[in-house]
Amino acid sequence: MAVTTFAMDQQKLYYFDNNATTRVAPEVVEAMLPFLTEYWGNASSAYRFGGQVRRPLEEARAKVAALIHADPKEVVFTSCGTESNNAAIHSALALHPGKRHVVTTAVEHSANLKYGEFLQRRGYEVTYLPVESDGSLDLHLLDRSIRADTAIVSIMWANNETGAVFPIEEIAAICRSKGVLVHTDAVQTPGKLKIDVKSVGVDLLSLSAHKLHAPKGIGMLYVRRRTKFQPYVIGGHQERGRRGGTENVPYIIGFGLAAELAVSNLPEENARVRALRDRLEQGILETIPHTVRNGAREPRLPNTTNIAFDFVEAEAILMMLDQVGICASSGSACTTGSVDPSHVLAAMSLSPMRARGSVRFSLGIYNTEEEVEYLLRHLPSVVSKLRAISPLTSEHPDNDKFDLKAARRKHDEGLAQSLSEQDDDAVTA
Ligand code: PLP
Repeated sequence: MAVTTFAMDQQKLYYFDNNATTRVAPEVVEAMLPFLTEYWGNASSAYRFGGQVRRPLEEARAKVAALIHADPKEVVFTSCGTESNNAAIHSALALHPGKRHVVTTAVEHSANLKYGEFLQRRGYEVTYLPVESDGSLDLHLLDRSIRADTAIVSIMWANNETGAVFPIEEIAAICRSKGVLVHTDAVQTPGKLKIDVKSVGVDLLSLSAHKLHAPKGIGMLYVRRRTKFQPYVIGGHQERGRRGGTENVPYIIGFGLAAELAVSNLPEENARVRALRDRLEQGILETIPHTVRNGAREPRLPNTTNIAFDFVEAEAILMMLDQVGICASSGSACTTGSVDPSHVLAAMSLSPMRARGSVRFSLGIYNTEEEVEYLLRHLPSVVSKLRAISPLTSEHPDNDKFDLKAARRKHDEGLAQSLSEQDDDAVTA
């Protein structure tokens, strides 16, 4: 396997952010290339040059359908997971104008949360179900929150920040018993959990190809047979009239192959990657004091761990790790840059201070044991350097009356100093 490096300085990349996006598999790139260079016609054209891409496109659709045990006719290609989520909720509301209530959770991706806020501004009601401190859902609350005017329940299958897995089969059963449409954001599950839409019993399900080693900008919405659907992107007759826009053939081809790889990678993700994640998690919790895992150990995605490092800011840890080529994150990439602590950790009742010190490590099939050991070698000194300059140390992490602004200012000054020292002895490999 070729070592991934940064283009700028050829530093080896230690990538632990697979829930943000994944490396495009070399075989996926290879499969896509002919559809960029040679077979670039429009799949809807009547002449043979365009029409010849129709068959590979439909074969790719069948592979994506196989990943979730669906019928190819139930697969609607979209531009991304965000569009798929928006489209599912939009369709339910557009088809049932008398139903103006949506149920979702407080820990969804911003693809749902921001769409919910948008709907609320337009007079719809949205219930955001809370979670327990271990990240789990109270299904009695779900049951009680469904009303006669509920158009759809949209609940993620697995959480992108903590890896917490929700009991989607039970959720779907509750919704079915009440005659309410159910959608799940399954963006984080391919290659990690077995997905069988028939046994799960959802009406709609979203995927995004860039989470499974295909490029960004292609997604999918599963629409169960006989489920009425109102398109979100209105235009041409593509996707059997369910999504306008010329088909993104090369990306669909890439998605198809990636879907096949995800099926074959499932055992490895659940054995080798899980073991690497456990080694990393245990290594951190055992060697670095004042650390704690956020969320329950199980049920959880096999590749994800989210850890609180008390008395330090996650952003500072991430900046120092970046200096030695390590990529991780403090939450969803889509909310990076916001000063608020993670909404997921806040919903799990973590104090803002502890949430701000939390880092997500998400592994993937390209991670090696050597990379995990590299991270475990660097992390303790990064954390102890930061704690040495941390004005938070003498404070209890749950004490929110503490002057955080002043603490952050002092902390940032110390961090700038540490980073410039680290620059001098940055490890490259
Ligand atoms: N849902 C979840 C759980 C995600 O993790 C993401 C991406 O981070 C999305 C939706 C959005 O997917 P996309 O980036 O394809 O819009």
